[in-house]
Amino acid sequence: QVAQALKSVARNEHIKSYIQQSNELYPILLKAAKRFVTGENKQEGIEIANELISKGYFISLEYIGENITDLKKCIKAKDEFLHLIEEIGSMSIKQTVSLDLSHIGLSVNPETAYIHLLQIAKKANMYGITLMISMEESSKTNDILDIYKKASEQYPNVGITIQAHLYRSNNDIQELIRYPGKIRVVKGAYQESDEVAMSRSKELNNCYLKLVEQLIEANHPVSIATHDETLIQEIVHRQYLNHPNVEIEMLYGIRPDLLSNLKGKEYNCKVYLTYGKEWYLYLCHRIAEYPENLYRAVTDMINP
Ligand code: FAD
Repeated sequence: QVAQALKSVARNEHIKSYIQQSNELYPILLKAAKRFVTGENKQEGIEIANELISKGYFISLEYIGENITDLKKCIKAKDEFLHLIEEIGSMSIKQTVSLDLSHIGLSVNPETAYIHLLQIAKKANMYGITLMISMEESSKTNDILDIYKKASEQYPNVGITIQAHLYRSNNDIQELIRYPGKIRVVKGAYQESDEVAMSRSKELNNCYLKLVEQLIEANHPVSIATHDETLIQEIVHRQYLNHPNVEIEMLYGIRPDLLSNLKGKEYNCKVYLTYGKEWYLYLCHRIAEYPENLYRAVTDMINP
């Protein structure tokens, strides 16, 4: 509940501008966020990406933002993604860029998001970069899947994220499997009603495994995106990570020990990195899905 309240706080425009203008609060909160976010600008993201690549990881980079209703801000975000792709593309970091469609226009209208996505996908395709679409609240699932399907037909370098906690995902995957894009399987980060989603449970882990199993059997490119050690043990046991087009992907700052261990076994290991000024919303997401992070954040803030 505290975490959900924090998310509402982070989305509040008045509080946002108060934090941004506060010389005391801003650096303290940013310090806590740095456990999960590389920094506020793309240079910081690229620097950490290069470090991780030199250690043998794959990377995915996101410029953070969501639910943008101002068209000018969506265009700015789209331009930032184009610049990011140009920069990493020319540096041979030909890996993955991730984005939320509501960052580039979905909250204005789906057509805007689609047009912006095509521009970004085209540039990414030129540089051999994969573009992964994140999945957002279930109220947006239909729009996001429709946009993905249209874009995927033109740009096979575009991939999609699917949330195992949604009851609908088992049906969705039957259709998504017919498109060429990589599918990232996550449990789901958003608070949803009991009618549409299940909570963290053994049942959810079984659904997660079922989705992954179907993708593996179809020899479809897949990113297994979880930090759940029990789930990962089962995935390793089933030898899913031995497939060349399967990777395990974790968020920056969460269970780096576990990912390093998997890298030691020569599996494809990817770190999901983020940068941008909207880091406090991202921090709140991480606290919401794992409330212990609230104590870590407070410790980070008060430690010199
Ligand atoms: P959980 O059962 O939530 O956690 C298992 C264990 O992992 C916990 O016991 C803990 O040890 C560790 N852990 C998990 N989360 C944290 C944390 N925040 N801090 C510290 N430890 C933690 N969700 C979406 O809804 N849409 C997306 O597009 C999306 N993209 C993602 C991309 C990647 C690469 C990853 C890794 C996650 C993404 N998520 C997305 C988030 C995802 O849905 C889950 O909320 C998140 O991964 C936590 O679930 P879990 O599978 O790790 O399992």
